[in-house]
Amino acid sequence: MQYTKNLKELIKHFSDEQKCIDFLVQQRWGGCPRCPYCNSDKWYRIENGKRFKCANKDCRKKYSVTVGTPMHASNIPLTTWIPAFYLITSRKKGISSCQLARDLSISQKSAWFVINRVRETLRQKESPLLKNTVEVDELYHGGRIKNMSNKERATLKENNFSVFANKSMIIGMIERGGNLKLEVAPDTNRGSIIPMVYRNVDKSASLMTDGEGTYINIGKNYVSHQSVNHSIDEYVRDGYIHTNTIEGAFGLFRRTIIGTYHKVSPKHLSRYCDEFQFRYNLRKMTDGQRFEFSLGSIEGKLSWKELTKDNGLLAETIIQPTIPKAIRLIHPEKRKGTRGKRTPVCQILNGEVIGKYDSTIAASEATGIAKTSISKALRGETVNAGGFQWKYL
Ligand SMILES: [Zn+2]
Repeated sequence: MQYTKNLKELIKHFSDEQKCIDFLVQQRWGGCPRCPYCNSDKWYRIENGKRFKCANKDCRKKYSVTVGTPMHASNIPLTTWIPAFYLITSRKKGISSCQLARDLSISQKSAWFVINRVRETLRQKESPLLKNTVEVDELYHGGRIKNMSNKERATLKENNFSVFANKSMIIGMIERGGNLKLEVAPDTNRGSIIPMVYRNVDKSASLMTDGEGTYINIGKNYVSHQSVNHSIDEYVRDGYIHTNTIEGAFGLFRRTIIGTYHKVSPKHLSRYCDEFQFRYNLRKMTDGQRFEFSLGSIEGKLSWKELTKDNGLLAETIIQPTIPKAIRLIHPEKRKGTRGKRTPVCQILNGEVIGKYDSTIAASEATGIAKTSISKALRGETVNAGGFQWKYL
């Protein structure tokens, strides 16, 4: 439609509530309202055309065009919702809740709720299996342990810390010249990749992956499987065996997160994946077409309660008992107030103390092992330094 060609025309057209209602009726029901309770197509307008009443004599229910959609029972007017849909679906790298709040003069909390409700509608409810040539790879999402605050690090350590402790694993599958699928794995175990690939990729496909063992096993169930060995710097073989398409999509996803959202919690990560997948798969549409498409399937709402409840993902991602408790190096009490002070340390090999030093610096000088490596081992960021374990005395 011509009035959603760009933002200027969108604002000009959707100047009042009635125009928004007429547009939504067109997008949702093709111009003829259907009762959401009994599916009857007999209706008449009430409340000056703002709502409808079912003409089926057994039903007689009143309804509006937003019932059952993310906009249902919202205090935010449709003249704000419609531009919000446009801004969210047209920005190539997404839009943050703070920016949306400033653009539409609503609070950041409202904007965050609006964005998450819109994301819910962008989720592809059902999509065909990927066929032909399909590239599969995984992406680890989550910051580095060394960049965390002391408090966050202490929480991690209480829950059996590992390298993947604060990471979420995202599996990306892309059909060359076709659709992308991004799914957040329930945990970071490589075994969880298997059902995700089987669920999304048709058995007639030829897989392209890196040389990881998990993929080699998965590949046995497909018509063909080719892999490139990244560990020997092999990225393309024979011109067509590569995973560059999925790596490219991951690059864009990473830049979206870093540039626009900065930090995404594991709890909401799957919604960000849905949004990115929607934008990536419809990248050849114009902004206006993508906006209208998003409003074509607006069934399904999301309540504030559902949005903010703990879905357990966060806890699942943190608790990763991969390192036995015995060698966990946690000294939260000892670490308190040690900044700038010298704390004696001991060097451990196979559980036996083989050396004691007045400070980390002294230990480094005596053993030739870098001070930073010893410090990391002491903080519990790494298991050992120079082949030894280290503890504060
Ligand atoms: Zn009805």
